[in-house]
Amino acid sequence: MEIQGRRRSSNFEDRGRGGGGRGAGGIPLQGLASLVRMLGVKGSLIAAAVLGVGFFVLPASLKQQLLGALSGGGAQSDGAQGTGSVCETSPTNGKACDFSRVILASTEDVYKPLFQSGGLPRYAAAPGAYREPVLVVFAGSVSTGGCGGATSDVGPFYCPADSKLYIDPSFYDVMEKRLRAPGDFAQAYVIAHEVGHHVQNLIGANRLKVDGETKNQASVRLELQADCLAGVWGHSARATLSITDEDLAEATNAAHSIGDDTLGHANEKDYTHGTSDQRKRWFKRGFEGGDARQCDTFAVKRYADL
Ligand SMILES: [Zn+2]
Repeated sequence: MEIQGRRRSSNFEDRGRGGGGRGAGGIPLQGLASLVRMLGVKGSLIAAAVLGVGFFVLPASLKQQLLGALSGGGAQSDGAQGTGSVCETSPTNGKACDFSRVILASTEDVYKPLFQSGGLPRYAAAPGAYREPVLVVFAGSVSTGGCGGATSDVGPFYCPADSKLYIDPSFYDVMEKRLRAPGDFAQAYVIAHEVGHHVQNLIGANRLKVDGETKNQASVRLELQADCLAGVWGHSARATLSITDEDLAEATNAAHSIGDDTLGHANEKDYTHGTSDQRKRWFKRGFEGGDARQCDTFAVKRYADL
């Protein structure tokens, strides 16, 4: 892909290290204590293991709980800024920031007309015009406007309360080395997936529930839809960002590497994001078809048919 000469989004916040005043890196002790209180020791160990493989593979409900626990149990006020700039820390970070702004701008260009034409799954009332989310880059830890605080360990996430996406650029390194998902388009897929959660928030998908299904199953439907929406973005951005077949392979490889089965969940009832096969399939569905209405995972009657 090629980002030279493309628009950079201004919906961007560069927060310095420790944005949120929690000190640099790691799970703060206070947060850890609340986590243990909430989940028990065994649950906390499981949560810590899960956090190690990236926050965006967690279900939204658990994310909220963990964010609450990590912030000491309560909602935190917004506006706490760290010192300095994440983007200016290193050339690698600078590149990641610039790249993220291009991808975000591209999602804005794709979703604005899509909301205008009503080309999205329809759930509640018509969502109206697209409201652009803000991308926050941070290093170490960050506080959000309504989702509590978080550390880098949790990976990229979306906070519906403040409509912001949070990414520590060091996560791209985790993707490459720990998740074996390298490549710029794999990174773009992660950003577009989180933007997908923002879109779900606007159209009301995140408030849907299918009768008789568990919380985890609702989470899988949401996550697969976010993958599909990321694919739709890729389809629409194909020409302007010169997205190639190799790029596509990077994204499907990333989708594969963060499937619940590949991440080691033995029991299907513990799935929160879907299998590698499902994640690839729904991403490709969006990428190949380019029709967000085809991303309606909630219209699939039987869960087993997802
Ligand atoms: Zn997600």
